[in-house]
Amino acid sequence: MTGSTREQKLYCWDCLLFGADSGSWARDGYSDLGSLSKSAHRHQNGSGHLRATIRLKTFGDTRIELQLDEQQHRDVIAHNEKVKRNRGILKRLINCVVYFGKQELPF
Ligand SMILES: [Zn+2]
Repeated sequence: MTGSTREQKLYCWDCLLFGADSGSWARDGYSDLGSLSKSAHRHQNGSGHLRATIRLKTFGDTRIELQLDEQQHRDVIAHNEKVKRNRGILKRLINCVVYFGKQELPF
């Protein structure tokens, strides 16, 4: 938890940095101190907060070079699948041309 003295509001540090939703703890700030404990407990068990906490805890664990290598590997696999499919199509066309040639048939 963190706060802003200028705005007099509290924020959730994890959600502020890595939260995807724009709840009061992440973007708008929380200012109702009367129900702070209940609201903080509810926020702490929310799925958005848990996702943000996991992102914060795992931030920096994976090196960017490894992620780029993984993406490049996926691109190579996709390219190879496309080439394999196109070769299959070309092979069928060549077989048709050979068949027409052997049978002396026009296109
Ligand atoms: Zn949070």
